[in-house]
Amino acid sequence: TNVLEVRNLEKVYGSGRGSTTQALAGVSFSVATGETVAIMGPSGSGKTTLLNCIATIDRPTSGEVIVNGQDVAALRQRQLAAFRRTELGFIFQDSNLLDTLTCFENIALPLTISRVRPAEIKTSVETVATTLGVAELLDKYPYQVSGGQAQRVAAARAIVANPSLVLADEPTGALDSKNSQILLECFESLNQRFDSTILMVTHDAFAASFCHRVLFIRDGRLFTELRRGDKGRHD
Ligand code: ADP
Ligand code: ADP
Repeated sequence: TNVLEVRNLEKVYGSGRGSTTQALAGVSFSVATGETVAIMGPSGSGKTTLLNCIATIDRPTSGEVIVNGQDVAALRQRQLAAFRRTELGFIFQDSNLLDTLTCFENIALPLTISRVRPAEIKTSVETVATTLGVAELLDKYPYQVSGGQAQRVAAARAIVANPSLVLADEPTGALDSKNSQILLECFESLNQRFDSTILMVTHDAFAASFCHRVLFIRDGRLFTELRRGDKGRHD
């Protein structure tokens, strides 16, 4: 089954008078449960707009985004927060951890907000932290860990509530090559251990090479895709 279906998505910025920009010009693709997919394209090609439309941060001009069978356009404003909390996990270029909370408390946050019982929170946080190699850091504060470690703690937070879909925006963008590799291997572990579905937007071909599938976008259109193991083009 598909966790994500994007159908003929269009986004035009600046309606009415003045100049307009067509950021997305009819984008369609789907992502199956347990798949990892990268979207690559040059700057200005529409990657952020696409991710924001899927994340329900931005609204498309037309077309559909369906997450786990739910057409996100049908969600009311007050349902959106709950939708994002239960269906989506977010990983950004910078870890965005809260410095006043320990790593444990940061990872636990999505569960705490959903009023999960403390014993259950402890088990979930420790399981995910172990998979990501950050179990020894749980009592530390974010400013006491390295950038690479912080990004793995952020990945733990994104995954801990078992969202349908993890959205990652340039997750290796602020990491050196060694820490990029460690983080990407962690994504593979999450995918294998928890069947996590991950959609990432990236400039980094090395990051994209860890995904099952890479979609290429240019001028708001997908123009080709690669599957891991491919030697050439797929049209
Ligand atoms: P990418 O993430 O691939 O760099 P974006 O999605 O940020 O691309 O941008 C796609 C196009 O839409 C670009 O031409 C950009 O200038 C334009 N754009 C993005 N956001 C806005 C906005 N809020 N208002 C007007 N134009 C925008
Ligand atoms: P890593 O490859 O995990 O990023 P580093 O060589 O960057 O490791 O750091 C080694 C150790 O130094 C880390 O385990 C961490 O405890 C500490 N450290 C690194 N960077 C920072 C930082 N910016 N703030 C606090 N501690 C740091």
